[in-house]
Amino acid sequence: MSYQTIKCKNCGNNFVFSSEEQELYLKRGLSGPEHCPICRGIIEARSKDKARSKYER
Ligand SMILES: [Zn+2]
Repeated sequence: MSYQTIKCKNCGNNFVFSSEEQELYLKRGLSGPEHCPICRGIIEARSKDKARSKYER
């Protein structure tokens, strides 16, 4: 597998989706990322904040 270049849906920057990452996503049964690592970090931080405020488990 070779790397792919993906355009981030949030900021529009192109980022590299490496073959290692592709394997990881495949193993988890996920399709490719839609956001660059920077935006993913921001989105994750936000969802963690939300999960914390209504944590129910
Ligand atoms: Zn982005």
